[in-house]
Amino acid sequence: MEGGILTEVELNSSIRNIKGIGGKSEKLFNKLGIYTVKELLCFYPREYDIFGSIEPVSSVQEGRTVIIEAFLKSSPKVTVSGNLKITRAVFKDASGSIAAVWFNMPFMAKILRMGTHYILRGRIVNRNGFLELRQAKLLSRQEYVNLTGTLQPVYSLTAGLTGNAVAKAVKRALEETDLNGDFLPADIRKENNLILWKKAIYAIHFPANKEECIQARRRLVFDEFFLFALALGQLRKTKDKMESQFIMHKDGLAGQLLNSLPYKLTKAQQAAWQEIQGDLRSGKVMNRLVQGDVGSGKTIIALLSLLMAAENGFQGAIMAPTEVLAMQHYETFTGMLEPLGIKTGLLTGSLTSAQKKKVHTQIAEHEIDIIIGTHALVQEKVEFENLGLVVTDEQHRFGVKQREALYSKGKSPHMLVMSATPIPRTLAIILYSGLDVSVIDTMPEGRKPVKNCVVGTNYRQQAYRFMQKEIEAGHQVYIICPMVDESENMEAENVTEYYQMLCAKMPPETRISYLHGKMKPAQKNSIMEEFASHKTDILVSTTVIEVGINVPEATVMMIENSERFGLAQLHQLRGRVGRGSAQSYCIFMAGNDSKEVMERLSVIGNSNDGFYVAEQDLKMRGPGDFFGIRQSGMLDFQLADIYQDADILSAASKAAMRFKEQDIMEMCKKYGRLKEQIMSYTGTVFL
Ligand code: ADP
Ligand code: MG
Repeated sequence: MEGGILTEVELNSSIRNIKGIGGKSEKLFNKLGIYTVKELLCFYPREYDIFGSIEPVSSVQEGRTVIIEAFLKSSPKVTVSGNLKITRAVFKDASGSIAAVWFNMPFMAKILRMGTHYILRGRIVNRNGFLELRQAKLLSRQEYVNLTGTLQPVYSLTAGLTGNAVAKAVKRALEETDLNGDFLPADIRKENNLILWKKAIYAIHFPANKEECIQARRRLVFDEFFLFALALGQLRKTKDKMESQFIMHKDGLAGQLLNSLPYKLTKAQQAAWQEIQGDLRSGKVMNRLVQGDVGSGKTIIALLSLLMAAENGFQGAIMAPTEVLAMQHYETFTGMLEPLGIKTGLLTGSLTSAQKKKVHTQIAEHEIDIIIGTHALVQEKVEFENLGLVVTDEQHRFGVKQREALYSKGKSPHMLVMSATPIPRTLAIILYSGLDVSVIDTMPEGRKPVKNCVVGTNYRQQAYRFMQKEIEAGHQVYIICPMVDESENMEAENVTEYYQMLCAKMPPETRISYLHGKMKPAQKNSIMEEFASHKTDILVSTTVIEVGINVPEATVMMIENSERFGLAQLHQLRGRVGRGSAQSYCIFMAGNDSKEVMERLSVIGNSNDGFYVAEQDLKMRGPGDFFGIRQSGMLDFQLADIYQDADILSAASKAAMRFKEQDIMEMCKKYGRLKEQIMSYTGTVFL
């Protein structure tokens, strides 16, 4: 292959074929899920580093990456804290001075010279009320001149692999591969104003400017939606009106459970339950989505459905996106179902292999009626004796592929999907075509709407005092920690540091714990459980707590750096409070108070309605807004964001609708990778 051009088919060949990638770096790439040339090319930057220009020290803002030009005022000091070596130095320009801090880079102390001018680029962080410059890079004048105004790709990395190494490999791959085949017919490209795939792939990695980057992203987002829509159409054809082998007539136990609940179902819950019962009796396979805002009471609906399956002699499974949520469901389900003689079981990734094996056997022999679990449920070893109903909770976290895998474990079991993702109607029609939808649009009675405020960082001390009061009243608090660049690998340190700062601020009797994504699942579980059973008062966490967890005594949530989240995600986070009868509060702290930020945050500050928030989010975003704002991570798209790219979604699904079975076959014949791409959305072979 030396120096030769790879052909279309060879996009699927190993990355070893790219010059410069040897066995060692191959392993590192594998860790990122990159095995083939195509996977490397489709490893898109997580975001872009936009190089601005030099700012006066006095005007830098928290949460931003800035460039300053200043001289070294105090000689650097290195201190040790835990396993961190912290280097600290003060810089000054005509407008003021600022401390610069480097973690685990003690060599900085040796490089820096007193009184010398430097150009530094780093992130501004607020530490105990003082702004400091973190992990700054020193730039030469020439580098600064060359880079200002450019977009540099930022990749999600693994230890041992630098951003530079990825960029270099991508560049090589681009040079050595023939990317001329474009599966998208010219007329569709023209109609939708889309650039060629080849050009898009190049520009998504190395955009010459913002405009080019937007064009590239548009094309690739279109592809994702287009293939998704094709896949959906195919799936619909195979599933439509399928006869079910699991017809359920008995509902006595479900009725008994309903009568013993401490509350009455809301009208909306009742309606959803009626519709589900209708499906389960009908003789056709159920494909239903239950959509309801956070806290609307979807769990009980899932539980009733699974109970009905069990009392009719079938097995049921519910799959949750996180171990914590699976555990919580397991406890709720076991408490309510065991008294009725239904056997429940739990299957998660952190069980020992002996424990897993035991559960596998119990499932296979139908000793367990209802199994609650995580991804572990879709692993091949799990064989059901008689799987009649599959529920997936908070489905936006699952790929369609995973859903399919679980689905295929039974003989076309009924399928129920629970989702809190507030998807505006216009989009839901496309995304959920083929599913019947029940909407739970009212909240249980007695809930007080969450009181919101959008504030600047100068409110932080007051917020802490407010939290103290709430804790004294017997309530609990979530603090969502400021976000950091994953590339800095600093998530854990950042949460720990915030935790330490908070411990110093709060009265000593306050019980504070913290949670971040780098922890082992077992550790995460125990911390969540401590919080859920009120053994701790404050939980400092990254967004790992986002999904589904239910702690009714938690009444305050404070979200640091709110401006860095999408509105829909903020709404999901807020859903962790306001779940009990006491008044709850959500404090959205903005790291900067620009007009744009405040306007956007005021939408969520003024409304608790997830659908309204999502609609507004949709209206306020325009093309190109993806710079800086984190992707909401909903549904299983790589680049596409259903809110931000709503217009592309409609266009792509319209284009896909015109395609006949015959056209798709033709296209797949011509472009080998297409078939596999469509399949990757459905997990099934249908062509
Ligand atoms: P979600 O829809 O976000 O999954 P949950 O099912 O976790 O919400 O329900 C949130 C809380 O509301 C739970 O504590 C649950 O017991 C309670 N709940 C559910 N339905 C009702 C109801 N009809 N009346 C009162 N409380 C309810
Ligand atoms: Mg839920």
